[in-house]
Amino acid sequence: MSESRGLLRRYTDSMIQVFGTPQLVLASGQGCWVTDVDGNRYLDLLAGIAVNALGHGHPALVQAVASQAETLIHISNFFTSEPQVRLAERLLDLAAAPHGSGVFFTNSGTEAIEGAIKLSRRTGRRAIIAMEGSFHGRSTGALALTHKAAYREPFGPLIPEVRFVPPNDAAALRSSVDSSTAAIFVEPIQGEAGVRPLTDEYLRLARELATRHGALLVVDEIQTGVGRTGVWFAHQDSGIVPDAMTLAKGLAGGVPIGALVTFGVEVTGMLGAGQHGTTFGGNPLACAAGLAVLHTIEREGLLDNATRVGAIIGALEMDGVSATRGRGLLRAIELDGIPAAAAATAAREAGFIVNPVTPTTLRLVPPLILSEAELGQFTAALPAVLERARRAPR
Ligand SMILES: *Cc1c(COP(=O)(O)O)cnc(C)c1O
Repeated sequence: MSESRGLLRRYTDSMIQVFGTPQLVLASGQGCWVTDVDGNRYLDLLAGIAVNALGHGHPALVQAVASQAETLIHISNFFTSEPQVRLAERLLDLAAAPHGSGVFFTNSGTEAIEGAIKLSRRTGRRAIIAMEGSFHGRSTGALALTHKAAYREPFGPLIPEVRFVPPNDAAALRSSVDSSTAAIFVEPIQGEAGVRPLTDEYLRLARELATRHGALLVVDEIQTGVGRTGVWFAHQDSGIVPDAMTLAKGLAGGVPIGALVTFGVEVTGMLGAGQHGTTFGGNPLACAAGLAVLHTIEREGLLDNATRVGAIIGALEMDGVSATRGRGLLRAIELDGIPAAAAATAAREAGFIVNPVTPTTLRLVPPLILSEAELGQFTAALPAVLERARRAPR
């Protein structure tokens, strides 16, 4: 029996089965490549779901984590550390946040969303508007804003007064926001829905309506942020300034971290001493990792790399591909008559990890360091992969 099969059997016997059966048992990674316990290599075009921004084993991240681990890993929020302060300052700088803005660090995206929900309740209002197709996380608060009924319904009742509106529908948004609205939550590009962008006009309308009615505009950049779309934060393309932004996934390159960023003195002041907290959030280890990621994105020109290499995916044309969507290295390949799950299986058998994010869509969210040559290996193999998937028994 292969190493993988033995470990998968033990996994099944020891883990709560919320993830089904894992596709692979991974042993190591280097750059954009991972190796399983049986020695098979794969080009990782998923990057831990848009997390491993610098790929695997990047020396800058390894060095930052190793040296911070030797210094201080965790201290609680009774204390602070230089990496924490520097990461907060760097994020505010990159977000072009006005004076008086602030950061609250968490350990995950969901927790950043929870912080944003609590922030919105400090308006004294309760109603929240979210988008159809949205994904904001799995805690009972974040889940209430997550559109997929199968995720939500077994766990209700969740927090009340959440209304879902169809994305990019200006009239529906206009008729939904009023003086009872605490916040509008948007993802600039809905990742889990299959890489579905909001238009710049729609984001600007959401900004305008939130301002007019005294609601907060919360931009969930957990998947789109930190260079993923070729800019630091995807909403920046539209020119809007949100009231709050959530970050996580790519921020520390795989070390767990999230952040709630609040814009301006007024919003930042809405959460005061004792009103929110975390034990692990913002520890020096995670913050040192975050600093290394931001520094490396800048030093290695990874925003430009994401734009340039991502454009190649955006321009893909071949039999079996009906469309592509997305920006930078957050991309969808829409398949024509080929189940995405079968395509992902065929890709994996050919040595490529991709994600069938919907029944008809492959999502590619590779490391931001992906080279044109590496992507070229995938695009060259794709016609045969799709042909194989087309013929796979259904
Ligand atoms: C992944 C994701 C979340 C949840 O983040 P976790 O770290 O899994 O808790 C929330 N919002 C968006 C847009 C995401 O992509």
